[in-house]
Amino acid sequence: MPERIYNFSPGPATLPYSVLQEAAVDIVNFKDSGMGLIELSHRSKLFMDVADETEALLRELLNIPSNYKLLFLQGGASSQFFMVPMNLLQHDQKATYLNTGVWAKKAIQEAQLFGKVEVAYSSEDITYRRVPKDDEYTVSSDSQYLHFVSNNTIYGTQYPDMPDKTVMLVADMSSDILSRPFDVSKFGIVYAGAQKNMGPAGVTIVIIREDLLDKVGDRVPTMLKYKTHAEKDSMFNTPPCFALYCVGRVLNWLKNFGGVAAIEKINREKAAVLYEAIDSMEMYRGHAEKESRSLMNVTFNLPTPELEARFIREAAAVGLDGLKGHRSVGGCRASIYNAFPREGVEKLVSFMADFAQQNQ
Ligand SMILES: *Cc1c(COP(=O)(O)O)cnc(C)c1O
Repeated sequence: MPERIYNFSPGPATLPYSVLQEAAVDIVNFKDSGMGLIELSHRSKLFMDVADETEALLRELLNIPSNYKLLFLQGGASSQFFMVPMNLLQHDQKATYLNTGVWAKKAIQEAQLFGKVEVAYSSEDITYRRVPKDDEYTVSSDSQYLHFVSNNTIYGTQYPDMPDKTVMLVADMSSDILSRPFDVSKFGIVYAGAQKNMGPAGVTIVIIREDLLDKVGDRVPTMLKYKTHAEKDSMFNTPPCFALYCVGRVLNWLKNFGGVAAIEKINREKAAVLYEAIDSMEMYRGHAEKESRSLMNVTFNLPTPELEARFIREAAAVGLDGLKGHRSVGGCRASIYNAFPREGVEKLVSFMADFAQQNQ
């Protein structure tokens, strides 16, 4: 086995090593049942306990009020781009969207299939370098909800605080859920693909306020109604068992760590170390405006694409992997989610200093 390296991948992303070790054992023989975890019936007591524990942990860690349902779905966050408007919006109704990146824009495109979409803000013309403050846009009084992407994975921007508007909020939190506390009761729906900050690919978490389940029209297919999954506790059909189990293990790890507030403190420290390096060296320039900087995805450029390519190559050679920026913006991106160790950030910063020195 090679030494474990530092994996800065944006998603699927690094997971706690202890979780990988647990999964490696459980996948072969789960709780001494003589069956591997991924062989279990999803209706078996053994697996139902896994699902129940995962739900309980998520409710506890995010302090989810009892009038919210928690769903474990498939199809990725991308399917939520259409499921949200399909379930919440009638064709003559309006919803408001903030265009802060590729994911936000995809959500807008899907919503346009179902209702009227008001794009209240866009930073597309400045390569999505920032997210808006509350006073930089308005939401029509007849809007059903305000949709936003809390952390823009590709550009490295994040709302420092969740938008504070009178309208019901709906958020794609794929790349920063569980990285900081937030007030669930301000939201109608929160969704997140697991593969950034919660587990492996294959399961999408949806937190939905109960009263919204009945808004859906009759002509929506059964599998695409939130109500279907809510009524059957996400067991209407076979759930993504292995991914769900892994999320449970990650949540257990997070709980033992001290929970969301405790990890937020570490996330702030890790990001500060990296931004400090970017700001203090001539060689590096941050992509995001300072007030919009993400604690999860740190994006930066070097003076030329050639230097960037060399930086990424040489970093990989010393065990700092996955630093290439998204193809739509180029440059470099260090994704430092909850499970990313602090020592990896420190190693990157020292590599950055060496690289700057050698390429003056
Ligand atoms: C990765 C990502 C997505 C896409 O997720 P899939 O699960 O691949 O569909 C959507 N939104 C955000 C913010 C992301 O980071």
